[in-house]
Amino acid sequence: MEPVIERMLEVQNLKKYFSVGKQLLKAIDDVSLEVKTGQSVGIVGESGSGKSTFARLVLGLLEATDGNVFFMESIAVQPMKKNNRSMTLRKYAQIVFQNPYLSLFPHLTIGANIEEPLRIHGVRDKEKRHLRAQELMYKVGVPEAYYDAFPHELSGGQQQRVAIARALALNPKLIVFDEPVSSLDVSIQAQILNLLLDLKEQYRLTYVFIAHDLAVVEYISDVIAVMYLGRFVEYAPKRFLIDQPLHPYTNVLLESVPVVGGSLKDVAGRGEIPSPLSPPSGCPFHPRCTKAFDRCRLERPEFIEVKPNHWVACHLYT
Ligand code: ADP
Ligand code: MG
Repeated sequence: MEPVIERMLEVQNLKKYFSVGKQLLKAIDDVSLEVKTGQSVGIVGESGSGKSTFARLVLGLLEATDGNVFFMESIAVQPMKKNNRSMTLRKYAQIVFQNPYLSLFPHLTIGANIEEPLRIHGVRDKEKRHLRAQELMYKVGVPEAYYDAFPHELSGGQQQRVAIARALALNPKLIVFDEPVSSLDVSIQAQILNLLLDLKEQYRLTYVFIAHDLAVVEYISDVIAVMYLGRFVEYAPKRFLIDQPLHPYTNVLLESVPVVGGSLKDVAGRGEIPSPLSPPSGCPFHPRCTKAFDRCRLERPEFIEVKPNHWVACHLYT
């Protein structure tokens, strides 16, 4: 019997700083998160807040500057070992990206794309791979007739279904979705989100679901973390975060209709997200915050638990 794993993913004080010329860009700056097995954790924030960097760090696709990431309570993803991404990590943790066309191999058929991870992980029997691909296509709702088609022959929604099938091929435990519906028509978005909910149930998956649109994140997640300039500013179970948001930025996200690309263009005249190369003093949100007072300009608020399991970084609560 397999041991019971309670904490699928543990992120502790994670940092990723990029050198940009002579400056330091703090893309992820001291982020901690625990993802329990079977949970669906949403991460929401505007374009440039650090979401994709976070996704790559937790999957060991990018080396952290500092901090720890553990997968399945035993595998140290960060700090990273050189050229040695653990086989267990590669098998059990998958990622689905925003643009399915770019993430599929254009010169491989749909079938071959889905079978690729099986091939890499040593499933030599061609017939077995074929059957598995067909089964997965059925599960994600891609017609069997597309087995021999090429990615460009499919719609964006269907391409994303194929990318999801490929992510499922090795029976993963964790899937990280980085804006998986952001490039799709709104009508298709709901279909894909419902598919993801079904698959999660069926395969007892654990999700980290990233998007710039809070409505999309709300649909999928049990708990939500709000990211701003490389940090979490609020974290709570979904109902509390949506119905009783504490951080003024979460309120902005709730009020705004995101534009394509993920920025909140001039939300109620509050301006755009500042560059992480020159973050504002004190609370990084203060220049856009209608509730800011003196202390907000001077002192960065700590991320604290103000109610059970409800965390916020805001001087209104300290
Ligand atoms: P999001 O996915 O939320 O839009 P990203 O994680 O892509 O945010 O980027 C966060 C910040 O890190 C941005 O300011 C981006 O320009 C910067 N960044 C990301 N990757 C690199 C890199 N390789 N070199 C320098 N800066 C980077
Ligand atoms: Mg991104």
